[in-house]
Amino acid sequence: MMKKLFLSIVLILSSSAFAKPSVVVSILPEQTFVQKIAKDMVDITVMVAPGSNPHSYEPKPSQMVAISKADIYFSIGVEFENVWLERFRSQNKKLRFVDISANITKMKMTEHHHEGAEEEHHHHGELDPHTWTSPNNVAIMAENIFHTLKEIDPNNSAKYKANLDQFLQEIQKTDMKIREILKNLKPDTKFMVFHPSWGYFAKDYGLEEVAIEVNGKHPKPKEIMMIVDEAKEEKVKLIFAQPEFSDKSAKVIAKEAGIDVEKISPLDADWSDNLIKMATLIAK
Ligand code: ZN
Repeated sequence: MMKKLFLSIVLILSSSAFAKPSVVVSILPEQTFVQKIAKDMVDITVMVAPGSNPHSYEPKPSQMVAISKADIYFSIGVEFENVWLERFRSQNKKLRFVDISANITKMKMTEHHHEGAEEEHHHHGELDPHTWTSPNNVAIMAENIFHTLKEIDPNNSAKYKANLDQFLQEIQKTDMKIREILKNLKPDTKFMVFHPSWGYFAKDYGLEEVAIEVNGKHPKPKEIMMIVDEAKEEKVKLIFAQPEFSDKSAKVIAKEAGIDVEKISPLDADWSDNLIKMATLIAK
């Protein structure tokens, strides 16, 4: 009897008084953003593990357990959420869903038609979900995360605010560094990527992203030849592939054009350094 009572007291204490808010995010950069603002004041679970593809991701059973105990789900508009958020909702009726990309102006997917390619849309549909490659967008996300944490954990709101201000400064510094690195490039300088993840980055810095992927697939041989010609014509120096996708066609095109393939992921947890690295490679 005593033992049972003791156990239930422990359970009550651990699930309320001393428990930190429990947060789930879809991708690694979001974990970084939440950590910047919450430091160790919340527990964070990330859905899409490093190296996995957020377009076709399926949660593991252990992650469904985390969902059933979580307080907040910060979504960001990546594709697997379309299928899974409803299931998460039925798993945990008390879970609060906040889309951190809510008041960001989304643009259409970079659509670059290689001459002769079929006139179809990218697999994402109309809007480009890769919003976090723009520092301006991340500043908006930071504010959204802050407002939610402040509401759910008002006792710590002053700390969240101080951390937010610090993070906003860091975002601004990142933006200034990137502008400095890219300042000598001609406007609309083209860079070539396999999967079109860098559209918002391109837009912010007056660059143009050229994607190899055609309708979410590797290009056909005829399309490959057109992309090779384009890479030569535009004097593209590198092709960016990302570890979440096969670099098969990037390698073929790079070889034909006599250039290199560089792997970089927009899903890197080290968000600021990663954007700076991307700018440095483009400016090379
Ligand atoms: Zn994508």
